[in-house]
Amino acid sequence: MDRILISACLLGAPVRYDGKGKLLVHPLIERWRNEGRLVSFCPELAGGFQTPRPAAEIAANASGDAVLAGEGKVIDVEGADVTAMFVEGARQALAKARAERCRHALLIDGSPSCGSLSIYDGRFLGERHPGRGVTAALLAANGVEVFAPVDIDRLAALLSPA
Ligand code: SF4
Repeated sequence: MDRILISACLLGAPVRYDGKGKLLVHPLIERWRNEGRLVSFCPELAGGFQTPRPAAEIAANASGDAVLAGEGKVIDVEGADVTAMFVEGARQALAKARAERCRHALLIDGSPSCGSLSIYDGRFLGERHPGRGVTAALLAANGVEVFAPVDIDRLAALLSPA
């Protein structure tokens, strides 16, 4: 059975920077949970952050791919460089995906870790641009296909039966 690495906040875990979750209410989530497919993970907590924590964005309109290449930084709203913790969280997420044999991940969009379609642009103005977060980039580069919630039906079509 194909297992799915999933952002812990999508399952309602209060792990986001603001101390909240972001529950994804969808019949497929309930089905997959009952089938034991879901592997809940929060890269930022794994990277050493606490909840709550200052919001962070990938700076200067860059992407997670650039961060992994050493050409971009993650900066929090107070100006601290938190790049190393984001990279560590991504590495932990990849290790978890490999340990649990997850070939697919369902990650919340917009996050500097988990975003796969768009991320905030580093100005803390609520503006997004196309790009992916650090964890999404590392997973994709290592053969774990990443889906945003808007693509949940496309993910479902790829899974082997339970
Ligand atoms: S790192 Fe991912 S799982 Fe953790 S709070 Fe942010 S979006 Fe959710």
